[in-house]
Amino acid sequence: MDFSFSKREEKFRASLRAWLEENLPDGWLDGTFPLSKHDPEYSAFLRNWQNKLYEGGWAAIAWPKEYGGRNATLMEEIIYQQEMVRVKAPQLINYVGIHMVGPTLIQLGTEEQKERYIEKIVTGEEVWCQGYSEPNAGSDLSALKTTAVKDGDRWIINGQKVWTSFGHLADKCFLLARTSHHEKKQKGITVFLVDMHQPGVETRPIIQMDGEHDFNEVYLNDAIAYDADIVGEVDEGWKVMITLLMHERTGIGGQLFTLEQQFAELVNLTRELEDNGRRLLEDPFIRQRMVDFYTRTRGSLLNYYRNLTTTLKRGYPGAEGSMDKLLVSELTKEMFEYSVSIQGHQGVLWKEDALADSFWQEQYLYSFGMTIGGGTSEIQKNTIAERMLGLPKDLGR
Ligand SMILES: Cc1cc2nc3c(=O)[nH]c(=O)nc-3n(C[C@H](O)[C@H](O)[C@H](O)COP(=O)(O)OP(=O)(O)OC[C@H]3O[C@@H](n4cnc5c(N)ncnc54)[C@H](O)[C@@H]3O)c2cc1C
Repeated sequence: MDFSFSKREEKFRASLRAWLEENLPDGWLDGTFPLSKHDPEYSAFLRNWQNKLYEGGWAAIAWPKEYGGRNATLMEEIIYQQEMVRVKAPQLINYVGIHMVGPTLIQLGTEEQKERYIEKIVTGEEVWCQGYSEPNAGSDLSALKTTAVKDGDRWIINGQKVWTSFGHLADKCFLLARTSHHEKKQKGITVFLVDMHQPGVETRPIIQMDGEHDFNEVYLNDAIAYDADIVGEVDEGWKVMITLLMHERTGIGGQLFTLEQQFAELVNLTRELEDNGRRLLEDPFIRQRMVDFYTRTRGSLLNYYRNLTTTLKRGYPGAEGSMDKLLVSELTKEMFEYSVSIQGHQGVLWKEDALADSFWQEQYLYSFGMTIGGGTSEIQKNTIAERMLGLPKDLGR
């Protein structure tokens, strides 16, 4: 495949660059932007940023035009991700909406659901979270205990979700609940679109080991959803659940662009750090590791391009997203572990005492979650084995 960019594609890049220059907040590029993610106004800033992206036509470029996207080609997708990573653009607050719920509703939602939700997803007016995991149901979601019981045209939902990313910021939740019991546990599960601002929904923060608050516990006490909030059929939510997971994993693969940039920063770190008066980059063992990281990052990225091509041609993602997710999360963890280890005794320092305000340490701590969220590495390997290699099914399920 030819990865050089045509004139038309370079024009696309130039127009995105010009838009970013015009619209990134003052101080974003030179590091003087006054807000941090710990400021109370930060989530309002992120909603505003997503709305700006939407108005510029840059919020969901892979989506069909009729839903507010651009029908982006593979090369445009690549350019978009490269440019966003280059400027370290603000986080997409409605990541779950844009990369997971929106594409699933476009694929499987009713016309009313598309009408009701899609525009508000892309504008950032309604932020979404994903209510799948429970205290005793993660890798095996068929063990979930949250129930939804029919009451006229309403459903009364009770139970507990956990690890709900963006739950504290979200307006809506794509939630799995058990609606009936069958011998086959995958049957009897239904997907509901649940309003997070109702009295029956309570969100409690979970603080991570890096001190950050990205996810939550969500308690459902007689929470209410309606027939119109069901995606797919009652009791047949399993395939809807999987469809969203495929979108999630393919989206996570896109983090390879960030990893490529972080690799370049790691090379700079080995240029700056010295051991016995010699720059680390001159150490043959360190050079070998750098080449190893470079080769694997580049190889994973090329593999991601191939998978993205398949997804764009087919119109929806498949099991190959598991490959991307596995590669990017494991490689990220390994690379950041290495970045901390080469700092020697400085590696244990934190915040302002550490190099780069502990950027490397924080990324290292965060990387553990990457190999778990969206399905653990072991589960990705099972999916690759069964669905791509045709190996026999995992006996544990
Ligand atoms: C950063 C982050 C964000 C998350 N965000 C969300 C979110 O927004 N919404 C949401 O619903 N959930 C979210 N999760 C939860 C995540 O999906 C689950 O943690 C994950 O699916 C694993 O489930 P578990 O924690 O219950 O572990 P378990 O399923 O109990 O697994 C424990 C261990 O057993 C292994 N294992 C389990 N089954 C098998 C098997 N069949 N074969 C081989 N090994 C197996 C696993 O790989 C793991 O090592 C998030 C998690 C993280 C870390």
